[in-house]
Amino acid sequence: MFSLDGKIAIVTGGAKGIGKSIVLALSKVGATTVIADIDVNSGRELEACLKQKGLKVEFIEVDVSISESVNKMVKDVVEKYGKIDILVNNAGILHDAQITDIDDATWDRVIRVNLTGVFYCCRAVVPHMIRQKYGKIINIASAGGKMGFPYAGVDYCASKGGIMALTRQLALQISKYGINVNAVAPGTTETELIKDRNEEQKKYIISRIPVGRMGRPEDTAAAVVFLASSGSDYITGETIDVNGGLYMD
Ligand code: NAD
Repeated sequence: MFSLDGKIAIVTGGAKGIGKSIVLALSKVGATTVIADIDVNSGRELEACLKQKGLKVEFIEVDVSISESVNKMVKDVVEKYGKIDILVNNAGILHDAQITDIDDATWDRVIRVNLTGVFYCCRAVVPHMIRQKYGKIINIASAGGKMGFPYAGVDYCASKGGIMALTRQLALQISKYGINVNAVAPGTTETELIKDRNEEQKKYIISRIPVGRMGRPEDTAAAVVFLASSGSDYITGETIDVNGGLYMD
């Protein structure tokens, strides 16, 4: 039920953190996985490391905030592999500031990478999935898009709330073509993204999590594998919370 043998997957922001874990998890269950990232060094390093382990991966440089870059990446994948079965929109940047300290350029950048990037990738991939009458789109949102929480700006939280709205509406439009569109909303997860949190802040974060620890990248990767597999064929427009109970619907 969870095998992805023969499937072609793209993971944006796949070179590090949660994306890296998703790349590993998808390729371990058989998918050929494209590590699509702006960070060329980390992407190439991961590609070499996973190839050595016998996994089918390829690094492609992309900036999800530039539509031409996204369109070229998708064109290259389709030319090489003939199809795209799975798209994981994971690339994202965190910004933490009070509203009066967010200038126009920062607001634009955060929305552009986190939300417009998801739109660009979906727009480029959807025609291929409709042609195939098959597809799994998984968007990485955040608990910050659902609830108020310290250590994130309104720009970041608005971008993540936007991802969940985009997920529902796209699911409404394209599920009839055999395409599932879902999101995963992680809580605070131990990656470079939260490198600025000091020990006191980490303690406070953990004190609010019923499971008693922060998330690990593998926690989110496991939910993504489920949503990429046939086990989730009857789930669409949904957001799965992976947050140790921090936020309960
Ligand atoms: P990370 O910083 O460790 O990794 C992000 C990856 O995205 C990096 O490899 C980076 O190079 C890439 N990237 C950044 N901008 C890009 C662009 N314009 N084009 C292509 N790639 C780009 O972060 P992470 O913690 O692994 O976060 C992954 C996703 O999970 C993000 O969308 C983030 O918002 C979300 N998330 C993270 C947490 C957390 O606490 N770590 C919590 C909730 C949601």
